[in-house]
Amino acid sequence: MTNLLQADKLYKMFGQVSAVHGISLSLNTTDFLAVMGRSGSGKTTTMHLLAGLESPDSGKILFNGQDISKLNEDSLALWRRDNIGLVFQAFHLIPTLSALENVAFPLYPTTVTAKERHRMAVNRLEQVGMGQRLKHRPGELSGGEQQRVAIARALINNPNLILADEPTGNLDSETGIEVMHLLRKLNQEENVAIIIITHDLEVAKEADRVIRVKDGEIVKN
Ligand code: ADP
Ligand code: MG
Repeated sequence: MTNLLQADKLYKMFGQVSAVHGISLSLNTTDFLAVMGRSGSGKTTTMHLLAGLESPDSGKILFNGQDISKLNEDSLALWRRDNIGLVFQAFHLIPTLSALENVAFPLYPTTVTAKERHRMAVNRLEQVGMGQRLKHRPGELSGGEQQRVAIARALINNPNLILADEPTGNLDSETGIEVMHLLRKLNQEENVAIIIITHDLEVAKEADRVIRVKDGEIVKN
């Protein structure tokens, strides 16, 4: 097992609010980690720090040995494209685009040809069990199907880490567990590390390891 990510004593304030207060964590290349904690405990801010969407006030994030806090905004965007897949509670698909177009979307800033883009997006949709819904728009899909499309999109640039912020939060519990099984399958097939934020213990149990966050700190490992 190889270390993928090493976060060391991260702090982040918003005004007077200490959203993240000394979080450290270590992740190997094939880890599947769940982060639990009440609303407002700092889970989303932690995820944003790890994704380079926010920069910490202090602390260090090493990703494959590279200190991402040293990157400027342009380099960080490229780093994120090549390394991180993001999945959200509300799916964040583009409503006017088909499933196929949504999944292909992150490939547009790359040099991939139209034909290759199509092939790659079809492959990813097949991998998440959505090969029969290529032309459907998000509004024509169930919540669980939309999340599968969003996961296919998160995979399209072969990330090393998927960060999922309450990906089952808008789904019924059975569909939520199915999404977790899909993430597990991808974790194994793609050797992608996964961090999933959840409120739901049943969902968290599907991960290999659970950490709990309270008032911006890890309370239990
Ligand atoms: P969680 O995801 O666990 O619900 P968050 O990380 O979203 O928690 O928020 C942690 C704390 O930081 C909360 O008190 C929240 O109100 C505050 N916070 C988060 N983001 C911002 C922001 N952009 N501006 C101001 N306060 C924020
Ligand atoms: Mg949150």
